[in-house]
Amino acid sequence: MVYRSPDRFAQEMSATTEIVIRVIAAAGLFAALAAWESLAPRRQLVAGRRPRWPSNIGVWIIDAMAVRLLMPIGAIGVALIASERGWGLLNVLKMPGWIAVLLGVVVLDLVIYAQHVVFHKVPWLWRLHRMHHADLDIDVTTGARFHPIEILLSMLIKIVAVVTIGVPALGVLIFEVGLNATSMFNHSNVALPRWLEPIARWFLVTPQMHQVHHSILREETDSNFGFNLPWWDRLFGTYRREPQAGEQGMTIGIPMFRDPRELRLDRLLTQPFRDDPSAAKKSAVSPAGETLSR
Ligand SMILES: [Zn+2]
Repeated sequence: MVYRSPDRFAQEMSATTEIVIRVIAAAGLFAALAAWESLAPRRQLVAGRRPRWPSNIGVWIIDAMAVRLLMPIGAIGVALIASERGWGLLNVLKMPGWIAVLLGVVVLDLVIYAQHVVFHKVPWLWRLHRMHHADLDIDVTTGARFHPIEILLSMLIKIVAVVTIGVPALGVLIFEVGLNATSMFNHSNVALPRWLEPIARWFLVTPQMHQVHHSILREETDSNFGFNLPWWDRLFGTYRREPQAGEQGMTIGIPMFRDPRELRLDRLLTQPFRDDPSAAKKSAVSPAGETLSR
């Protein structure tokens, strides 16, 4: 049973250890990126930190609690059960543990890429996901700004993927810690050195590459979907090197929810259930400028 050793490692690791590893990794990286952003920001923030950080961090805490409360078993727990019972492709194909871990991480990343594309294309899923895009700036906290319903759906998708693929628990842990880390990194308002960035984006989604995805122009919002590995965008034709208006000139956000009040935590949570307020205003005003009675 030598080939299953990464799973034995994971089995011995208690749930508490897992939480401790994840909280320390997240807090350490958050602090480092926040300091880097303060010292050398890539862009001047439009709305700034003060109106955004309490809500972005608030929704992150709500997300974490919702997942722990409603899906306490988590993707790692599911991976342990799947490996015990021999469920999933990688558990059926007998292969060295480290190859299963590596394959599992890469395939999970492809699943998350596909999920991200679907959340942009299907209207009711876009309603959930657009809250992430409505941030008026992007920085390290935007990486945690997702609607709780999107986070729960995404957890469900991950669990189904882990069971079908048979990703070893260690692979799921690496993927989840990695995804949190890269999401914070590629949303952060930092710049890799000019000489390094074009090389780095062949191996990892860089902040400059992901910034294009937060452009107000829809064709740019619908590009650079990758979170960790940059290859899927290049492979499936959704890669865009830079925004039309340039790295400094582009506008971040979506056309709706540009009112700074929309940065409040309560407003974030209700955004999926509201229609475009500017569209409502436009339809209430006739072309001649008269206000209609409805
Ligand atoms: Zn997106």
